Amino acid sequence: MSRPRKDPRTARAAHRVAGGIRPRFDLASTAPLAGRLRRDPRAEERLALVPGALRRRLDRAQRIAVALAAPVPAAPVETAPTLRVIADPAFLVAVVPDAPGGRLSAHDRQLFGAARLLADAGGGAVIALVEQPGDELAMAGADRVLALPVAGYDPEAKALALGAALAALDLRHVLFPETADGGDLARRLAALAGEAFFAAAESLSPKTVSRAAGGRRVEQRRAPPRLISLAQDAIAPHAGMLHEALPVAFAFPEPSGGAILSARFIPADPAKVALAEADFVVSAGNGVSDFEAFRALVAALNATPGASRMLCDAGLMPRSAQVGASGTVLDARGYFALGIAGAPQHLQGVAKCEHVIAVNTDLHAAMIERASLAVVADAQKVMPALLKLLQDEARHRELQP
Ligand SMILES: Cc1cc2nc3c(=O)[nH]c(=O)nc-3n(C[C@H](O)[C@H](O)[C@H](O)COP(=O)(O)OP(=O)(O)OC[C@H]3O[C@@H](n4cnc5c(N)ncnc54)[C@H](O)[C@@H]3O)c2cc1C
Repeated sequence: MSRPRKDPRTARAAHRVAGGIRPRFDLASTAPLAGRLRRDPRAEERLALVPGALRRRLDRAQRIAVALAAPVPAAPVETAPTLRVIADPAFLVAVVPDAPGGRLSAHDRQLFGAARLLADAGGGAVIALVEQPGDELAMAGADRVLALPVAGYDPEAKALALGAALAALDLRHVLFPETADGGDLARRLAALAGEAFFAAAESLSPKTVSRAAGGRRVEQRRAPPRLISLAQDAIAPHAGMLHEALPVAFAFPEPSGGAILSARFIPADPAKVALAEADFVVSAGNGVSDFEAFRALVAALNATPGASRMLCDAGLMPRSAQVGASGTVLDARGYFALGIAGAPQHLQGVAKCEHVIAVNTDLHAAMIERASLAVVADAQKVMPALLKLLQDEARHRELQP
């Protein structure tokens, strides 16, 4: 309806050589050709021949004909994500992510999705309250970033710092992940500030927050209070524009001596950790035959060993190492599969893993399709190569002052 009407006379006049009736022949024209691409019969003939012979290729599936008929796809144009600037927010919605090891977890990203939902409904902005500000906060949806003056495990000092921010900044909501650390911090802050707290929210909107209760027989619903913790997989992460993640300055009060005199992180031995609790699992499948290299790689990567059922049935790995529907369903962040086909029963065991890496000689294996990083190669060659890289890196680290 909104297309401009074509005037055929003007169009014809534009194609005439000035003063004559001959149509203009514009060799330098760069105007795109309309309609189908021009055929090149010689190229088609060459493609139809067996390479190096004059015999025609037997094309039962008509693949050549289909390929020739298909239009050439245009190269994808990469565009930088658009930056959204909220210069003067009406209010702030704070996110306190767990960020284990300084990186946002999938649950943390969902918090930012929820915070964007609350902020965007009324012209607000999202502020991340983190120990180590990282570059992924802008993509996650943070407009502002406030670094908390806490190092290491000190929930008491962290709750005090959050309490100071809560009292001084215009924070309409503060969101925590309902995890061991995030849930503990949220409850400490609620007790400190004397405020209502809604734990393990399963749905959230600017007007209501709800969760299941009484063995999931009833639903509790209310207007969202200031302090909320969010259950995992309740809200989708933010997947849209890049946000500014501007650092904010804030004068935190001097931390006073708390009840915790000393706290330090004692890492568990990954080789002895139960598979269900492991953070990073390296698994072997039927494509692995060099078990010495496999065990060395597991130790060098500081991972927990796993296996497909095929290897456990064959007695090559213990039954406790079996990953999958009839083995252990993992809660790990990282999964490294060596020579595993990716049968549905196996994939059920890695459904929750955030990062999956697969090594397989078959490009079309289901495990390769599930992986975010895939190496199509022989596992027996990849394992020693990777071990060498890890050893070189360790030596390089030792040499550094
Ligand atoms: C009721 C039921 C429950 C089951 N539960 C489970 C379960 O919990 N867990 C589980 O794992 N399975 C389970 N299974 C079995 C499952 O269906 C598959 O048979 C099994 O997962 C296959 O193991 P795999 O991928 O190691 O072996 P294969 O299917 O033999 O695949 C081997 C893979 O290794 C690749 N490969 C071969 N050589 C190399 C090489 N040199 N380098 C790299 N890659 C190579 C191949 O391309 C192939 O993709 C279950 C089956 C049933 C019926």
